Amino acid sequence: MTDDTVQVRCTRCKSTFRERARRVQPGYSRQCPNCEVVIFFEESSSDKNVQTALLAGRRLRRVLREADEVKAGAKQAPVYDRSS
Ligand SMILES: [Zn+2]
Repeated sequence: MTDDTVQVRCTRCKSTFRERARRVQPGYSRQCPNCEVVIFFEESSSDKNVQTALLAGRRLRRVLREADEVKAGAKQAPVYDRSS
């Protein structure tokens, strides 16, 4: 199974935590579980850790979407031989 989380690094306390890739996109914000500072995920952010997380999230979402399409394609394949 594919891991659907990306690593996020808090600029303030330098701790890292994992967040779901589908959430890590522009407009999202969350609190650091360690120091409780609110991290805003914005494209315009000057925070390098935010930029890195956004990029990782975007990449992983694409990978997950492709994996889903493969899965959906496999499901649509007809199964005729169910008796054996
Ligand atoms: Zn923190």
